[in-house]
Formats: sequence, structure tokens, C-alpha cells
Amino acid sequence: MISERSENIPPFLVMEVLEKAQQMEKKGIDIIHLEIGEPDFDTPEKIKIAAINAIHNDATHYTHSLGIWELREAVAQYYKSHYNVDFSPEQVIVTLGTSPALLLTLCTLLNAGDQVVLSDPGYACYPNFIQYIDAVPVTVPLNANNGFIFQPDDIKNKLSSKTRAVLINSPSNPTGTILPPEILSKIAGLGPYIISDEIYHGLVYEGKAHSILEFTDKAFVLNGFSKLFAMTGWRLGYIIAPREFVRPIQKAQQNFYICPNSISQWAGVSALTEDHPELSIMLETYNKRRKVIVEGLKKLGFGIYVEPTGAFYVLADARFLSQDSYKLAFDILEKAHVAVTPGIDFGQSSEGFLRFSYANSVENIQEGLARLQKYIQKMH
Ligand code: PMP
Repeated sequence: MISERSENIPPFLVMEVLEKAQQMEKKGIDIIHLEIGEPDFDTPEKIKIAAINAIHNDATHYTHSLGIWELREAVAQYYKSHYNVDFSPEQVIVTLGTSPALLLTLCTLLNAGDQVVLSDPGYACYPNFIQYIDAVPVTVPLNANNGFIFQPDDIKNKLSSKTRAVLINSPSNPTGTILPPEILSKIAGLGPYIISDEIYHGLVYEGKAHSILEFTDKAFVLNGFSKLFAMTGWRLGYIIAPREFVRPIQKAQQNFYICPNSISQWAGVSALTEDHPELSIMLETYNKRRKVIVEGLKKLGFGIYVEPTGAFYVLADARFLSQDSYKLAFDILEKAHVAVTPGIDFGQSSEGFLRFSYANSVENIQEGLARLQKYIQKMH
């Protein structure tokens, strides 16, 4: 018999679209990928060299369960220089990606029945993780009229004696919006722990992303190397936790994972401490693509109420085509050979929307838009 929690966890729909697209590709069909949130760039050169050196230096054994000291120190220095916040390297727990960082944090913070307040739309896996450990996601719908900004008063209305944490993500997947400092400050003042997923920090085209640690110490920062450093396959991330949580997280890590990947950790030290000319080129390139895709989608009739200023996603209203984003995404894949993510993956509030990722070349984005144009013409 399969456990109830395994029966009940919904699939991560973007992966279902990707896997279907890959099946089609195996049959020789050319697909334009605008679904997956994965940089199309390769990892910067110096980071690769650091990993190769680590192998040659036989850094291929288990490491300390909290991660190598050099990387924990590098994280503390990186946050000091980027956000002027102070914490000890002892508060950094290196993990096998931001996803395990989230799981370890939730496992350490929540008992069955505890509540976490989060936004809808929001990253698809958040509520699924919370439910998997028998806790309760409490969602706050975001409004395009408010720029898809998580409103502190709306969060306040959802707080209860069961609330253990508020989960935020800025820049956000799927909206690409950035929470301004005055909002972060108000959220930080609400009382519960703040879990701040800062994985898209550094991918900012307008304005500035602030760390939650600028506003409160009663917070868990989750971050990783997948997006900014184009290191998805290296599986590397970290938690910055209040001191009293380090030991409980460590015990869970020892049991679940033993330690993070040793070679990737040395690559991570290079990522945070060396200069990487590739990074500014990536940022400029994403920014160009952002403009192309936003303009292109608007011309096709998609509703873009809030222009993204960070990450690499656009959430576009597709209700002129269909109310059912799941069916629409698969129909577009089958007929137009463009892979996009159904809005419903991110919650009820984005049903009828599609999320487009612009982690793809301008040429591919333009080809994708041209295919969508034909698809829309046929539909009307
Ligand atoms: N948080 C958010 C908001 C994400 O979009 C992703 C990846 N799509 C992750 C966490 C997980 O990233 P990783 O495990 O690769 O570090």
C-alpha cells in the first residue's frame, strides 16, 4: 500500500510539462522551452575549475554535516558585503540545494497541524512540502492591482495561534516581483518566524532585493546556487538559521543526507568569493529577454498586469484563450510545440494564467512567440 502522504502530494506540474515535451523531442519534434526555471547558461569557468581542483585534492569524502567551514564563512561574508547584516558562520547550514533547505527548515519548525502563511500565487512546492509533513498551508491571494505584492495586513488577518511562520519569496517565482523594504519590515514585525526564500537574489533588473535579515533575526534565510550562478545540477544551497535551530537542523541533516556534496561545496566557495565576469553578462542577457518576452506576449493579447523586475518569469493572463490553464498548457505544447507552465501550478489565484520563463535565448523566445501567434490565430 502506498502511504497517504505519497498518494496526496500533487505532482510538480512544470516537471510534467517538461517530461511530456522531452518525450515529444525523442520523436523528433522541435520544442521551444519556456516552462522550466533553469538558466540556459553554463556554470562560470572559475567555479568549474574549483570543483576540478577539489577532485584532484581528493575532497571527495563526507564533509561535516553542517558543511565545510570555508563555505559557511563565505556565506556570512557574502551577506555582510551585500546586505550589511551580521551573523556567525555557525548559523549557516549548507544543504543539497534550496529544496532540501526548505524541507529541513519546515521539519525543524513545524508540528502536525501548525500553520504557515504563504502567498497565492507562490512557488508550487511550498504548500506541497508543508502538507507532506502534516502541517497546514494558509494562503493569501495576491492581487495584480497591488502589483502582486504580499500585503502585511492580509497576512495579519490570517495569523492564528497555530501560525508558526510566514513564508516569503522575493524576487518571486512565478510573478517576478520584488518586495519593497517597507513591506519586508512590516512582515518582519508581524511576530511569527519568517522563512525567506532568497534564491532569486542577484537576478534583479529594476530596484533592489533586500534580505529579511536586514529587518529581523527571527528568520530563516533559504538560498542556493542554482539560479544566480547557473548551478542547478550541482545541488547546493544553504540555510541561515537562528542559533537555537542549528543543532536540530544538523540532526535532521545527519539522518536524511549525512552531508552536502563535497565537490559542489568547494565550487560554492569559488562562486561566493571570486569574481565571475559571466554573471553580469547573464544578467544583461536576461534583462534583454525580459523586454522581448513582455512586449511579445502583450502584443499577442496576454494580460501582463505587473511587469516582472526580478527572477526570470512572467505570469501572463491567458483567459482570453481558456479558463483552464492545465489543459491550455498541454494543448499549446501539443499543437504549437511551445512548453509553458500552467498557472494553476502556483495556486488558485493564477488559474487562467500561464507562466513563461525567459531563461532561453532571444531567438528561441521569438520563435516561441511566433508559434503562439499561429496557435492563437487558429483558435479564434
Ligand atoms: N525556491 C524557488 C522559489 C524556486 O523557484 C526553486 C527552483 N525552481 C527552488 C526554491 C529550488 O531550487 P534548488 O533546489 O535547485 O536550489
